[in-house]
Amino acid sequence: MPQFRLRYVVPDLPSTDEVIPYLRRIDETNWYSNFGPMEQLFREELAKLFFPGLNARHIATACSGALAIETALIAHGLAQGARVLMPSYTFVATASAVVRAGYVPIFADIDLRTLALDPAGAGHLARILGCSAVVPVGVAGMSLPTAAWEDFAAETGIAVIIDAAAGLGNQTISPLLTLAFSLHATKPFGIGEGGLVVSAREEIVTRARVATNFGLDQGRGLFCGTNAKMSEYAAAVGLAQLKRSDAIMARRKPILKAYRDALAARVPEVQLLTPAESNPANLIVMLPQPRVRELVADLAAAGIESRRLYVPPVHRHPAYLGYQCAEPMVNGERMSTHSLSLPCHGAMTPADVDQIVSLIANVLD
Ligand SMILES: *Cc1c(COP(=O)(O)O)cnc(C)c1O
Repeated sequence: MPQFRLRYVVPDLPSTDEVIPYLRRIDETNWYSNFGPMEQLFREELAKLFFPGLNARHIATACSGALAIETALIAHGLAQGARVLMPSYTFVATASAVVRAGYVPIFADIDLRTLALDPAGAGHLARILGCSAVVPVGVAGMSLPTAAWEDFAAETGIAVIIDAAAGLGNQTISPLLTLAFSLHATKPFGIGEGGLVVSAREEIVTRARVATNFGLDQGRGLFCGTNAKMSEYAAAVGLAQLKRSDAIMARRKPILKAYRDALAARVPEVQLLTPAESNPANLIVMLPQPRVRELVADLAAAGIESRRLYVPPVHRHPAYLGYQCAEPMVNGERMSTHSLSLPCHGAMTPADVDQIVSLIANVLD
């Protein structure tokens, strides 16, 4: 591993001192898990900050984003072996959640403008392939078009569970959609490890919560669940982190703007796939030429870490070779040769952005 001067991601989490007041409350209650007072308060405060119109009963906590997706899928109670359409261009956790929930993933390609499933195209595929659910993914925390997916769910009765892992604060809610978020340290709102299931339908959220607690409802195993509960310690970090969310955003904003301005001024042929207005968690650019490998090497030589998302796409990972692709993955494959995710966080400066954009300009000459 080369030593990077500038890391791809730098977590922005509360300090020990910021967490201590909440830990003291745990000392007082002697309650460590199983939906204790910290977890309850965390959900109340999350609803106030991120989900206007919803309350704590519309949020279930989980111990990771992956388990949030899995328990959200379980909560929908599809038949075992039900087909679930999802993009191949995503993190492997989306696919593992589908398989572990007892369903069968079918992979579709993304739209290059949104890096997500196109609601019209994917909706058509889901219908003709007999899918019971669709799992669109908001790549890099970009928000998905809620109205289009809401209409699709209403017209078809096909469940829509959005993997909005990095999209907390960005992805809006609408009545028929179920959302899963990640609170991993590398996401914009990190607590270490954690996840959320959010829906305006309380019955879905209740079932997700039951799924995180072994499938037990008042001592009866209603369905096959797991143990994905959020501990009181994690919720304590979450409560401390809520107080920092504005400051985190304020540190990221100038960096997003610096990228937008520098790319437009110096390499207008490079496309910013994650527009600054969309408040993305990560920054992804598309080069006009397949020069990503050279760019990764040049950046690394300058001490700058970057990531190729998602290489390979999920359908080419050994664990998922056996599942069907609904169409050729032309756009997902193009991402691996033409696109790169660059550092974008509050621990860097506009001068770092200038250096990165210079390196991009050089590799394109
Ligand atoms: C981060 C991420 C996940 C997994 O979340 P964890 O909290 O790390 O389990 C799933 N899907 C996407 C798209 C992600 O970015």
